[in-house]
Amino acid sequence: LRVESFDFVKLVDDVIEMEQMMANERKIQLLFERPEKPVKVRADKKRIMEVMTNLVANGIKYGRQKGFVKVTFYDLKDHLMVEVMDNGIGIDKSDLPRIFERFYRVDKSRSREQGGTGLGLSIVKHIIEAHKQTINVKSEVDEGTTFTFTLEKSK
Ligand code: ATP
Ligand code: MG
Repeated sequence: LRVESFDFVKLVDDVIEMEQMMANERKIQLLFERPEKPVKVRADKKRIMEVMTNLVANGIKYGRQKGFVKVTFYDLKDHLMVEVMDNGIGIDKSDLPRIFERFYRVDKSRSREQGGTGLGLSIVKHIIEAHKQTINVKSEVDEGTTFTFTLEKSK
C-alpha cells in the first residue's frame, strides 16, 4: 500500500464525476451528502478510488430506473465511516454471504445481463482488509443495498 493523507471529499467528487454518464444512461441520481470542509484520511488513494468506483458502479448497475445511489460520511472520531446506499434490486439473504467471493454473481437474469466478472467486490474487500479496516453490507430484495466501510482519519 502507498499510504498518504488526502481529502476524501475530493476523491468522492472525482468518482461521481466519472460515473455520472453511466448513471445518466440508467436515469439514476448520484447523491453525495457532501461535507463543507475537507475530510482527510490516511489510505492508499488509488486503491480507495477503486473501492469507491466499484461500489458506486454496482449501485448504478443493480439500481432501478430513476433510482439513486447515495454516499454519506459518518464521523467516528478516529475513523471515518463511509456509506454507499442504493434503492436498487437488492440481494437475497442466501446470496449475501457470498458476494465478496471471487467470481460470485447473483444468478438472476438481471445481474447477468449487466455484464461483469464478479471480481469487483472481492477486490474491494481485499483492499479494505489490507488497510486493516472493515466493510459490511445490508440488503433487502427489491428495496436496496447499503455498503459501509471505515477509513483511518488523518490529523
Ligand atoms: P465486476 O464488478 O467484476 O464488474 P460484478 O459487479 O458482477 O462484476 P461484484 O461487484 O463482485 O461483481 O458483485 C458481485 C455480485 O453481487 C453482482 O454480480 C451482483 O449480483 C451483486 N451485487 C453487488 N452489488 C450490488 C448492489 N449494489 N445491488 C444489488 N446486487 C449487487
Ligand atoms: Mg461490480
